Amino acid sequence: MPSQKEAKISNLKKALNKALVIDEKKIADKIKVIGFLCKKCAQCCRAEFGDNTVILFPLEIRSICEKTGLSRDDFVIPTPSDDRDPEGNIHTFEWVLKKNGDCIFLKNDLCEIYECRPYICMTYPFYLLDGKLKVSECMGIGGKISNEESMKLAALLKHRYITDIRESIALLERFNGFIPGGSGNVCVHDSEGEHWLVTDLD
Ligand code: SF4
Repeated sequence: MPSQKEAKISNLKKALNKALVIDEKKIADKIKVIGFLCKKCAQCCRAEFGDNTVILFPLEIRSICEKTGLSRDDFVIPTPSDDRDPEGNIHTFEWVLKKNGDCIFLKNDLCEIYECRPYICMTYPFYLLDGKLKVSECMGIGGKISNEESMKLAALLKHRYITDIRESIALLERFNGFIPGGSGNVCVHDSEGEHWLVTDLD
């Protein structure tokens, strides 16, 4: 009888196999029918237009560090969580970009890290859920998009989806439960292991 963890990993591996054979052209065709042209309104980066939370993979955090010279704690925080170990330390599973209401990288309606912005920003307003194309609210929906751009977007969406599943598998393989003992009061479990830090999540 597989453990709960083994069963989850096995399901994720099945999802990965399906994700690897997603037909980008079909996704691109759907994007073309929906239509999209970024209006550079920056609403997706701002607080007043809804949830502007940006979740990052560890590899994206590293890329931003390399390209900007910033360190991780300059621009990400752990997501809030109710999971605690016996000593009361918080355990969480994701990193998100810091905000001052708006994303901290938004300056004069422009993204300061445009060249290395996270996948979620590069692919907004589209995402894949169970391999199917979904669309969030966006002023750019319905705009004219070229074949080339729709293919580029479809490839990015597929890559983001595959990366997400691979990260979840790696996280689960490394995860050993909510065990106290690190130096800090918050532990982030991600695909690269445990990261302990001292921070106020309120
Ligand atoms: S990283 Fe850039 S594109 Fe993404 S939310 Fe922040 S300002 Fe917007």
